[in-house]
Amino acid sequence: MRILVTGGAGYIGSHTVKLLLARGHDVTVFDNLSMGHKQAVPADRLVVGDLRDADQVDHLLMVNRIEAVIHFAASAFVGESVTNPAKYYQNNLLNSLNLLDRVRRQGVTRFVFSSTCATYGVPETVPITETTPQAPINPYGNTKLAFEKMLADYAPAYNIGFTALRYFNASGAAADGTIGEDHDPETHLIPIVLQAALGRRPHVEIFGTDYPTPDGTCVRDYIHVEDLAAAHLLALEHIRPGAGAFYNVGIGTGYSVREVIRTAEEVTGKRISVKEGTRRAGDPPALVAGADKIRQELGWQPAFTTLRPIVESAWNWHKAHPNGYGK
Ligand code: UDP
Repeated sequence: MRILVTGGAGYIGSHTVKLLLARGHDVTVFDNLSMGHKQAVPADRLVVGDLRDADQVDHLLMVNRIEAVIHFAASAFVGESVTNPAKYYQNNLLNSLNLLDRVRRQGVTRFVFSSTCATYGVPETVPITETTPQAPINPYGNTKLAFEKMLADYAPAYNIGFTALRYFNASGAAADGTIGEDHDPETHLIPIVLQAALGRRPHVEIFGTDYPTPDGTCVRDYIHVEDLAAAHLLALEHIRPGAGAFYNVGIGTGYSVREVIRTAEEVTGKRISVKEGTRRAGDPPALVAGADKIRQELGWQPAFTTLRPIVESAWNWHKAHPNGYGK
């Protein structure tokens, strides 16, 4: 298939691009490199550009005769979305609308969207299933939910088939050690903990120890980035014209911030110094996926079903790339 991958030089995008190429797909990566890394994708696949430029998007879809779009490009920091919502509405909603309108005009009929468990807000019950009411508590979740709704409205009207994957916490790195997670600034827990293990940070700050969870710290469902990539491939293969589907993608087990730190200490053999801090705005106490639907309907089977091997794969990357992709 001829596939355009927006945000394909980013963390989840690049792991998906790697898998798509391995399966013989014809991939064009579109990325403004604001968060992505050109080293994360083959140079001959990368087009540097921004979704604000609708004409460039239109041109790319046309000249490459794109048959499917996987849309990763977005801003994805919960905390930042609270302090700078304008960035999130621009990048995640307006730029996505630009893309979707060009997709519609060019008659592309397959669309896979990176959604998030942040669309559920503070769920009444855990695990979260796809029918759990969606009520985001931060601008990041609001923008992702708004685009889900836009897709649902566009699909039947313009014969666009789509799948929205609601990711839980993407983590880990490629098994072959070639690509991994490198954000600047880094805000995600596992890379921060591993940077502390490498001595690149003095300590890890725990954002809140008074949550209504077993040890008082937030609980998240950490899903390996290669399992997430595999979900995109399956999603693409199962899309039906004019119809949409929504799937949670997680392992179905939650780990607290303290458990992540402890696991990282075991994996790295290093003592990680911890500072107990206050809650970060926008964080729900516990997000754990009920992911039976994607297993049953798409036959998805995660290779990583516990935290430890996920942290091991992340550690392999961080050890070998203490400065990430470098400058
Ligand atoms: N977290 C933390 N200290 C950090 C970074 C994150 O305690 O330095 C917590 C954060 O509050 C959340 C969990 O770790 O409960 C996972 O955060 P992350 O930013 O990795 O992912 P998110 O859940 O926001 O997508």
